[in-house]
Amino acid sequence: MQTWLTRMPVGMMLKSDGFASNLSDPEARFTLRAYCEEQGIPYKDQDQPVRLETFCAYGLAFQRRLVPTLEERIVVSIARGAKGFELRLDNGQTVTPQRVVIAVGLGAFQNVPTQLAHLPAEVFSHSSHDRDLASFRGRDVTVVGGGASALDLAALLHAQGAVTRIICRQAKIEIHQGPGLKSRSLWQGLRHPRSGIGHSLRSFVLAEAPLLFHCLPEQLRLRIVRTHLGPAGGWFVRDLVIGKVPFLLGCTITEAERCEGFVRLKIRADDSCESFATTDHVIAATGYRVDLRRLAFLDAGIVAQLQTAEHSPVLSRNFESSVPGLYFVGALSASSFGPLVRFAFGARFTAGRLAKHLYKRSRQPALYWPETSTG
Ligand SMILES: Cc1cc2nc3c(=O)[nH]c(=O)nc-3n(C[C@H](O)[C@H](O)[C@H](O)COP(=O)(O)OP(=O)(O)OC[C@H]3O[C@@H](n4cnc5c(N)ncnc54)[C@H](O)[C@@H]3O)c2cc1C
Repeated sequence: MQTWLTRMPVGMMLKSDGFASNLSDPEARFTLRAYCEEQGIPYKDQDQPVRLETFCAYGLAFQRRLVPTLEERIVVSIARGAKGFELRLDNGQTVTPQRVVIAVGLGAFQNVPTQLAHLPAEVFSHSSHDRDLASFRGRDVTVVGGGASALDLAALLHAQGAVTRIICRQAKIEIHQGPGLKSRSLWQGLRHPRSGIGHSLRSFVLAEAPLLFHCLPEQLRLRIVRTHLGPAGGWFVRDLVIGKVPFLLGCTITEAERCEGFVRLKIRADDSCESFATTDHVIAATGYRVDLRRLAFLDAGIVAQLQTAEHSPVLSRNFESSVPGLYFVGALSASSFGPLVRFAFGARFTAGRLAKHLYKRSRQPALYWPETSTG
């Protein structure tokens, strides 16, 4: 839960509905609903956003109850060993498992526009670094980006008393439809079914049929992952930003220069008009870009053997990479199983399928280095 506990802003709401924010246990018993009922926390399957604090508390309770053997250590390096893998931990210990599942989330893949990358930390941060926004009270903050993180941050900064603006490349901001959709016709329900991450037939199919996605030609899969579920805010953020936070839409920052205590931004609009803005702090809410090369703990020998497509690992139907015994899940598996596997809702498929596969493997005689990984 480290990402949720340390890299999401205090006060944030989840974009996924309550029913789509369950963690996956074998009997689907310890759901978010069950946890909220136990704790007396208000809960609805949909139309009531899940608070970050609730989800974090649920995740920790889930771990204590279902994964009590967790060891909290950072893996410093992973290399191939005589009988599988050799992992070095941050306490100097070495472990030698036969199989490794890499589930490191998005932390290593922050995407920062090159025009901003040189700015020092006093005046610039990525959205994943600003957890406590209270320090921005009374300051002028520019949020770059037009997706959920940008909108969430702008709303929270505004509520904290920061002077906030959003600059984004898109000419239009997308925000999910809210509870108003309850009164939809049967036809609308069929055309735009509830997917857990908004209402969309494509998301519904991707969430329900990741193995079908796996069968698609590679280029098509990569295109879908690139384009589906583009930047969009949760429905509840609409009233918190519209009319409250100024938007500079269709605008790109072409230069950023640090002056005394503030940043001067050169901005180019879609019609090529240029303007300048000054601000105390810039936050890049510009998302993440999965790239295996950024996983510094992977030994060069392993990286060289990994078959990849656009810097994501190519995976078998059981999440196994071209290095036998090495598995990737979450965002690193999206190009094989679809964009929904990046979310808690998609992890239901991942957890079930991979656990079954690993259980079967564990009952087979030890295959240290099988010739092929057919899954
Ligand atoms: C701003 C934001 C909002 C989001 N909102 C939602 C939402 O509303 N609903 C939803 O379903 N999803 C949401 N997501 C997606 C979210 O990332 C996934 O749902 C989920 O957290 C992915 O789980 P994961 O286990 O793959 O990665 P994470 O939850 O990121 O977990 C990765 C873990 O790996 C650990 N780790 C990393 N490197 C190492 C190492 N070398 N050694 C040991 N441990 C390591 C990290 O400490 C962390 O604990 C959001 C993501 C972001 C960035």
